[in-house]
Amino acid sequence: MSTCSKCLINSNYPGISFNTAGECSLCNRYGGFKPIGEDKLRALFQQVRQNRKSEYDALVPLSGGKDSTYILHLAVNVYQLKVLTMTYDNGLFNQIALDNIDRAIRKTGAPHIMRRPDPELLKKIYRASLTASGDICGACDIGTKSNIFKVACDNRVPMILYGTSPLEEDSFVPDSIQDVARMKYILKHSSDLTKREIDDFLIFPHLNHFRIFYNKRTGKFPKEVSPLFYLDNPTDKEMGEIITREMDWVEDTSREYSKHFDCFAEPLTNYIRNRIYGYERHICQYSNMIRRGEITRGKAMELYAADNIAEKPDGYRRTLEYLDLTDQDLEEIIRIKPLKFERHTSRMNRIFSKLLTAGKNLRLTGS
Ligand SMILES: [Zn+2]
Repeated sequence: MSTCSKCLINSNYPGISFNTAGECSLCNRYGGFKPIGEDKLRALFQQVRQNRKSEYDALVPLSGGKDSTYILHLAVNVYQLKVLTMTYDNGLFNQIALDNIDRAIRKTGAPHIMRRPDPELLKKIYRASLTASGDICGACDIGTKSNIFKVACDNRVPMILYGTSPLEEDSFVPDSIQDVARMKYILKHSSDLTKREIDDFLIFPHLNHFRIFYNKRTGKFPKEVSPLFYLDNPTDKEMGEIITREMDWVEDTSREYSKHFDCFAEPLTNYIRNRIYGYERHICQYSNMIRRGEITRGKAMELYAADNIAEKPDGYRRTLEYLDLTDQDLEEIIRIKPLKFERHTSRMNRIFSKLLTAGKNLRLTGS
């Protein structure tokens, strides 16, 4: 196994390559961040305001984390949009995240919808996904996205504002865990889920990149906007200070590195990914932070050592018990083959991703 000389990505990361200087292809490709421009964002908001057919300009999904809270601050306090907020309770929230959501709603006075699916169904979905593929983040992401779309459509909100940040690019995993066709395949092969339950969970069981694109074009689905890609953003630390002041936001200080602290299953899923793939999300995230100059490689190695990834994380049994799984089940999960379900992804998504990549490459070469 080789490790990048600039970041911490190793050769187990699917599709990675290294140059003669030992630098990985992600580091080589990284070109810094150029915002699309605040004028373009304001123009977009203006257009939405003019064509609005409901009482809201935008839906802001809240997770209690830094990015989504900051987006709510921007939408309400800076751009004065009429905002509806919502939260999809994935059953895995830490209390501190739920408290942050409450405080942000109280502070802004924005109406809030809590979507809370049947907890027993969620557990069955997560258990099926984890025991078959070793992952539950994909199931959670799919549930989150479907519920966001559902709330936006039901309330005729023309635009969704996401906290997705350019700082998070290449910080997740390269396999298609959010592919609905792949997830449906996994769930259909689970013995304790009915078709009805699977459809209830998915809400839009036939969603793929093309359908989203088409429904957005025809106005059936709302626009999806990530404001942080348009703006010269404050640093992560400054962002925390702004929302502490403006939104009564509270940071989880129990861990030095606290991305995705809002999920109590995160340490266990990170451990499982390391066991199955030989790399894990934290490695991707630390590497991303090194690339953008937020931390040194030395500091990242220090954080990584503190993760102590060879051992099961503290409190992992809470997640196992929540899912009615045993240590024996965990032993079987970590023996799952990597990328086991990649060939069951949606054909339409594969075509669409290829087109997107081709488009990106064309733009990069300036033709
Ligand atoms: Zn690298």
